[in-house]
Amino acid sequence: MARFPDERSEAAFSDFKDAYTPAQAVVEANRCLFCHDAPCIQVCPTSIDIPQFIRKIATGNLKSSARTIFESNILGTSCARVCPVEVLCVGDCVYNEMGIPPIQIGKLQRTATDKALEAGWQFFEAGADTGKSVGCIGGGPASLAAAHELRRRGHAVTIYERHDYLGGLNTDGVAPYKMRADDVAAEIDWVMAIGGIEVRHGAVLGDNLGFGEVEAAHDAVFLGVGLGPDKALGLPGEDLAGIDGAVDWIARMKTGTVDLSGVERAIVVGGGNTAIDAVRELIGLGVPEVTMVYRGNEENKSGYAHEWVAGKAEGARAAWHTQPVGVVGEAGRVTALRCVRTDDNKRNIAGSEHDLAADLVLVAIGQSKLGALFGSIDGIEVKWGQVVTDDDGATGRPGVYAGGDCRNGGKEVVNAAAEGKAAARAIHALLTGASAPADRPHPDHINHGPAHA
Ligand code: SF4
Repeated sequence: MARFPDERSEAAFSDFKDAYTPAQAVVEANRCLFCHDAPCIQVCPTSIDIPQFIRKIATGNLKSSARTIFESNILGTSCARVCPVEVLCVGDCVYNEMGIPPIQIGKLQRTATDKALEAGWQFFEAGADTGKSVGCIGGGPASLAAAHELRRRGHAVTIYERHDYLGGLNTDGVAPYKMRADDVAAEIDWVMAIGGIEVRHGAVLGDNLGFGEVEAAHDAVFLGVGLGPDKALGLPGEDLAGIDGAVDWIARMKTGTVDLSGVERAIVVGGGNTAIDAVRELIGLGVPEVTMVYRGNEENKSGYAHEWVAGKAEGARAAWHTQPVGVVGEAGRVTALRCVRTDDNKRNIAGSEHDLAADLVLVAIGQSKLGALFGSIDGIEVKWGQVVTDDDGATGRPGVYAGGDCRNGGKEVVNAAAEGKAAARAIHALLTGASAPADRPHPDHINHGPAHA
């Protein structure tokens, strides 16, 4: 996979969670109660057998531990670092109810998976050739998980990807203090080592790639296109220099460089996880004053509370109950965001206009959805911009499946991995007449409604 320049901006960050030493990992693993009906498994979208992989760490068998993880989630390396474990497995560890620190499942998973990549352990090989092929549109986590599972079952796979790298937001959107792009690239190389996954970079659906072209070339199609560009505020002056979409800016920061010279005050508009990430990244890159502007309050923002607590500890500020209504600029560059106060129902309060000075404004109010790309295709239903599927990822069009953000509206890497794998199993059943897939994502983890912005 493409490598990224050593001098890219994200290189300024180091991991915010130190990896365990081997001895620390064994001590932590031995704290696990190896619960019979482990709640930590129930809440994992990929249903990793957590007590089993932890028990193997406790006995020093890292190789078998890694195998247990990857059997359920081939992207277990990145999920160990980027999963919001505080609201998933760690948050459901029984120790929480006892007032005892929960098992650090993510860090233990990292111990086993990092070792597997470092040692070059491979656990899977391609299945016997079935003569069937599947086209995966989009090269993010959902397609990678689907492609790997399909190769294990002997189907040829082609991934169609617009960028010159794979991984989607896992590569160019994850906060660099959790995982850097080159680490994701190493994981993808490891996944691709199964062999036989062809990649066509520079393939842009609706531009130089037609859905019909992919459908005609393959026996089945997996839609894993993710989300579209940042939404804009829709305010006059938003095209001034110094105003950017947060996702676009983060991608440039992670895969290349961003110029923050002269930026003393930055504003990030939004209250979700992307907004909090952008705030923390700007602080980490040395911007002296970074303020998150949100029309609601701290309690009802959609970003994770633990991420905001960390941001505050790093110096993040917030302007709650504040809504941008205009952009102020000078000589073609933004100098301030004109805002109003909002009430408890997030409605603008008349007469409350005020300017917040800013040299840089990042807009993090959500990304557009790409379901419209498929809405005119017979049999594919699109609702709230998302592709509608059954629990296995099947759309209403025979042979066409979907997973990841274009289906769930924008969730975690682990959700994409689960949905990609489940769809691959369903595709395998379709192409071979094999029995229906046994393990699919928990229904609770499948989002059939609009995701929060
Ligand atoms: Fe171990 Fe906690 Fe899971 Fe129980 S809930 S198996 S203690 S990690």
